[in-house]
Amino acid sequence: MEIFETVAEIRNTVKKWKKAGLTAGLVPTMGYLHEGHTSLVKESVRDNDKTVVSVFVNPAQFGPGEDLASYPRDFGRDKAMLEAIGADAVFHPSEDEIYGGNPLTKVYVEDMSSVLCGKTRPVHFEGVATVVSKLFNIISPDKAYFGLKDYQQFRIISKMARDLNFDVEIIGMPIVRDKDGLALSSRNVYLKPEEREAALSLNKSLGIAEKMTESGERSAAKIINAVKSAIETYAAAKIDYVNIVDPENLKDIDTLTGPSALMLAVYVGNARLIDNRIIGS
Ligand code: AMP
Repeated sequence: MEIFETVAEIRNTVKKWKKAGLTAGLVPTMGYLHEGHTSLVKESVRDNDKTVVSVFVNPAQFGPGEDLASYPRDFGRDKAMLEAIGADAVFHPSEDEIYGGNPLTKVYVEDMSSVLCGKTRPVHFEGVATVVSKLFNIISPDKAYFGLKDYQQFRIISKMARDLNFDVEIIGMPIVRDKDGLALSSRNVYLKPEEREAALSLNKSLGIAEKMTESGERSAAKIINAVKSAIETYAAAKIDYVNIVDPENLKDIDTLTGPSALMLAVYVGNARLIDNRIIGS
């Protein structure tokens, strides 16, 4: 496994692979890897001749006052994990390598970026779409892998790729959870042991909503109320939003008429946790 810090070097390497007729998969990450990330990498290794994993804490997707400075980092451990599962290359650029030269261009996917997490994090998805566009242009992957844990991100990137004709197949991978049901996240390190119960309210409330739809409930408002009550039983959990949306365009829906995305964001202590489930299918 090779480590690349410059755009020119990773680009040359991928060009050589392509000349030799090899396919390339890309897994964009911010590092501090866990089994959620490695599930994406393993799928890419299975699907492609070569796999590039980017490890870059992207400042553009953090707003003022967010956790950019404290975001957990351990590149030594990330490298060892990636080597063990067969990644071929790690792209680990500096901030200057990505954003040097005073860039004036940004990528913004309208409507989908200003709802749900975009309400509390107004610059977030523009930062994500811009850096992912750059990674697509730098690496030219045949396939790129994203976790459905960040469902809104997955839909925004899919739409961006279609709108801008990126020649890449966007693959969404299932949410990987801890044994107790908490969706794995690098930010789970912010949780204190006594906050764990409250954090589990997200997955539990998704289960409650799923049961309601299985017994025929179709009112989004009723399901949302039940989800909110389940989360609010934990004093440490503070709801940011609970919405049921169209799984493609992320617009709110009132009545479930098919698969619908139940989307949650909840603050527990210093952590802002997100989770989601497709219900009503
Ligand atoms: P991040 O490092 O948080 O930017 O995440 C990099 C990629 O890993 C994104 O596509 C995430 O959606 C994905 N990912 C993070 N956590 C999980 C998880 N628990 N299950 C599946 N994918 C995940």
